[in-house]
Amino acid sequence: MAPSRFARRGGKPLFLIYVLASLVPVGLLGAVLLHGYRQEAVADGLRQGTSQATVIKEMAIIPALREVELDEGLSPAERQRLQSATELAIFNGSVVRLRVYRLDGGITFSDDGSTGQVSALNREAIRRAAAGDVEATIVADPAGGPDLTIHLLEPIVANASGRATGVLELYLPYRVIADAIRERIERTVRLLAVCLVSLYSVLALIAWFTTRALRLQAARQEYEALHDPLTGLANRKLFRARAAEAVGRTRRGESGAIVLIDLDHFKEVNDTLGHHAGDEVLRVVAQRLTDALRTDDTIARLGGDEFGLVLPQIADPEVVRELLTNVYERLNQEFILGPAPIAVEASFGVSLYPAHGNDVENLLQHADAAMYQAKRGRSGIAVYAAEDTPQISHRLVLQSELRHALDRDELILHYQPKVDLRDGRVRGVEALVRWAHPTRGLLDPRHFLPTIEQSGLIGPLTDRVMRRALADYAAWSAVGVTWTVAVNVSARNLESPGFPDSVAILLAEHDVPASSLHIEITETAVAADTNLATETIQALATLGVAVSIDDFGTGYTSISQLRHLPIAEVKVDRTFIKDLERDGKDRAIVRSIIELAHGIGAQVTAEGVETAFEADWLTRAGCDLAQGYLFAKPAPWTHLVAAHTKTNLEKI
Ligand code: C2E
Ligand code: CA
Ligand code: CA
Repeated sequence: MAPSRFARRGGKPLFLIYVLASLVPVGLLGAVLLHGYRQEAVADGLRQGTSQATVIKEMAIIPALREVELDEGLSPAERQRLQSATELAIFNGSVVRLRVYRLDGGITFSDDGSTGQVSALNREAIRRAAAGDVEATIVADPAGGPDLTIHLLEPIVANASGRATGVLELYLPYRVIADAIRERIERTVRLLAVCLVSLYSVLALIAWFTTRALRLQAARQEYEALHDPLTGLANRKLFRARAAEAVGRTRRGESGAIVLIDLDHFKEVNDTLGHHAGDEVLRVVAQRLTDALRTDDTIARLGGDEFGLVLPQIADPEVVRELLTNVYERLNQEFILGPAPIAVEASFGVSLYPAHGNDVENLLQHADAAMYQAKRGRSGIAVYAAEDTPQISHRLVLQSELRHALDRDELILHYQPKVDLRDGRVRGVEALVRWAHPTRGLLDPRHFLPTIEQSGLIGPLTDRVMRRALADYAAWSAVGVTWTVAVNVSARNLESPGFPDSVAILLAEHDVPASSLHIEITETAVAADTNLATETIQALATLGVAVSIDDFGTGYTSISQLRHLPIAEVKVDRTFIKDLERDGKDRAIVRSIIELAHGIGAQVTAEGVETAFEADWLTRAGCDLAQGYLFAKPAPWTHLVAAHTKTNLEKI
């Protein structure tokens, strides 16, 4: 597509240079050939003249001078014979002037009757001619006529001695020869012109093809350097250039938006459906972005599943939001990929220029911070707001703060009960980490977990949480409470080969039976690396730990993919619970999850149950356990024991 746009640029001058440059050798070749040919033609003319002279000498002059020693002068009869032969030749037009010289330079005969001696210079020429050195030259008509003549000096060998007795000087008309030469040259020039023009055309054609090929190649290289080969969108380099250009226009009062887009669950598509499917998703996303946005907008693939937009000439965050909501909805439309329909979800982070900065680096950081917020939030689209996200735009600061938090034990655990829907009893609790930040108060995991996961601190965090949870378990067991304890682990933990062993060691250290520990693994983590995750899950189950699949339904795994795993519990994600009352489809999904989970021998826990309707419906649908604000918000375990054992103590 775009190469043609680049191809025209700079092509013409190069071609013109080639064309003009090849004109020089072709012209030079023509000139040299013509010059050589002209010389050749003249020499030919002179040769013709010389042979003509020889003929005249042999036919007319020698016979007239038979047996005469020219030094001795001519007899009147000889002169007469010579005179009439000469006159005839002159009359015929084959001779203009004829003289006979003695070897000493004296004139023996001249058609115009002149006599006397020639100059020393001419005497030398006569001597050379007598020695056989015949030279023809083209000179003016000696009689003063307008035409050129050929001048020759020929030795006369009139007796048997073979020695020259005199020299014959002839002026022959050059005109006929010149005409013939001119005609020949004209013919040749025409021929040469045709040949040279053809040669030149061929050269020009070659030049045209060559420059075109070069131009196309250069354009292709330029295009490839600036575009993503898979989607044809701008790449990171071009994106930055366009962003810088757009931001530069703020000086003229222009404003706009920089948007970063990150696909959700893309890694799973790649891992579960293969790279071809992943590529197809990226192409569909590229096409949908292109369809949904304006022609002036820059759409780029920044790498992996990350895209970037430059939206010029928008100042109002609400307009940006509206535009992106449209994009978001389009992306969300299901399409068929291989065997199944899939929907693409994405998170959008927006920063506005000049409102949020006027250099690209800054704006990208802010868009990134907003994107993070979008990923954590519900809407999928977040516009940067300085006061909302200071902790994210300072990820590095946050990282070092988190290191300190781990050292200083600022991370604490709240617990949320898992309630048995049949009898309302609390069966277990889930540990949810909180950061008791020295200045910002108690922070939810969404504010720091992504940074922990990115900075390699997840190992220490899980270790800390696990120790704390097991210690707490021991504490409530000591007061007679029999709740199991669930700990969330991240995909990174599953990738660490020593993880099951460290769990075994911790269980032993705290003297907690493995069956009282639940480990919650998100569906996405299971899908991310099937082999490693499978091994870890197997090893944990072998220990006797109960493995739960968390957030079930948000990824692309199906229960049938889990059937070979020793799964003790499936937790239905809140997204399916929150609309149970309104949405028949959600009810159908939850019903089938329950049925399938039971089919593989797992318990089902509903997450985020907030209403009595949801709890009733789930109970009737056969769901085993529920968790949610309806029963309790996450809180320190001591609060829960106080709240739930007062009424339920006798049941526990
Ligand atoms: P999760 O495992 O799905 O945890 C449930 C989340 O839903 C908790 O959010 C909880 O407070 C919230 N929630 C519970 N009931 C309701 C309800 O009725 N309505 C609504 N709207 N929300 C409810 P929280 O504590 O902010 O945790 C968020 C996520 O952070 C957790 O999701 C879990 O994936 C992760 N997480 C928490 N603690 C840890 C941890 O120690 N390690 C790891 N790796 N991840 C953790
Ligand atoms: Ca969980
Ligand atoms: Ca969950």
